[in-house]
Amino acid sequence: MSCVVVVKKGGLKSLAQGHPWVYAQSVARVEGRARPGEVVRLVDAEDRFLAWAWFNPQSYIRARLLERREEVEPDLAWLERRLAEAVERRRGLAESGHGAYRLVNAEADGLPGLIVDRYGPGLTLQALSAGAESVKHQVAGWLETGLAPEWIWERSDQEVRRLEGLEPATGPLLGRPPERLRVDEPGCAYWVEPAAGQKTGFFLDQRENRRLVAGMAAGRDMLDCFCYSGGFALRGLLAGAARATLVDSSAQALALAQENLALNGVRERAQLVRANVFNQLRAYRDEGRRFGLIVLDPPKLAPNRASLAKAARAYKDVNMMALRLLPLGGLLATFSCSAAMDRQSFWEVLTWAAEDAGARLQVLHQLSQPADHPALLGFAESQYLKGLVLRRL
Ligand code: SAH
Repeated sequence: MSCVVVVKKGGLKSLAQGHPWVYAQSVARVEGRARPGEVVRLVDAEDRFLAWAWFNPQSYIRARLLERREEVEPDLAWLERRLAEAVERRRGLAESGHGAYRLVNAEADGLPGLIVDRYGPGLTLQALSAGAESVKHQVAGWLETGLAPEWIWERSDQEVRRLEGLEPATGPLLGRPPERLRVDEPGCAYWVEPAAGQKTGFFLDQRENRRLVAGMAAGRDMLDCFCYSGGFALRGLLAGAARATLVDSSAQALALAQENLALNGVRERAQLVRANVFNQLRAYRDEGRRFGLIVLDPPKLAPNRASLAKAARAYKDVNMMALRLLPLGGLLATFSCSAAMDRQSFWEVLTWAAEDAGARLQVLHQLSQPADHPALLGFAESQYLKGLVLRRL
């Protein structure tokens, strides 16, 4: 007999709208016992079946929905079907020559907390929920048989694991990745460090946005702030940007960016600057520098709701400082990957920045995350990446 979790009335609406979590405050009672990561039955107060879910008594997110059909109990065959579906949905990306993309995007692919990325012949895996943790070896087993990768490397080193009562975990699930690996995309190639790099080695979610921004770069003097391994500048230079300045505070990131520029034959048109972007923008302002295209892709400044007010100020400041370096007709591509900051707040922050910079701006594009990083309708947290391309009037 599986454990039953009774959901309070107040928790039902968001579930009906597609939200896949039950918070602690929405749990009326738990009948039976379940360990972290075990499958439980979710029911309402009248004992009507709601869904099968992964339970975690140690997390504020008590249950993560797996399956809304009662007759389809989430067993190993179910897990393998979900994985196969997620892989099948990315077939187009694989066939169009993309060497790296997200294969499994957690809740949005029906596998809460499980993330799998492809990097050429290998895969990285993140288990960010107790449920994902409990099946990670089964997942690795299926990936090994189904996709025949050369290696699978675990990168469960995100802080959110602690909220699930899990310690960070990194290491081999199959073989070992090379320290550095070349990934090819249509029109460019880059180096990735799957074991040591930030996130799982590359910011895959910016793939399409880089291409769109590059399409506007021709002839412009580009400033790529928070450049990491140089994705935006690289695409921009390949698309005809006159020059690019890449700024990041991490020496490791800049070393990788430098090699990426060289690999694509655009190193001579680029300058790399190791600095805190906030200070560097101020220095450029003092020097009277101008850039015709500025990219701002900061790290997640608001990791949670509590830090939102402080983060909003940082987003506002950095955007204001960038706008002050933008000539009339100049373009700003600006992003926020903080799930806690919704689209409307992001617009408000930019409006505030524009006011303080005395800039009038046209909105040319509203950007989001690509289809291999799908969000779920009714689950605002999954729509984390927001961007705007603005032109100064
Ligand atoms: N634009 C990148 C991804 C950016 S990730 C791409 O397309 O791949 C965020 C980057 O910001 C990281 O490389 C991190 O090292 C850098 N970073 C974080 N805080 C910073 C700061 N205050 N100044 C400069 N760089 C910073």
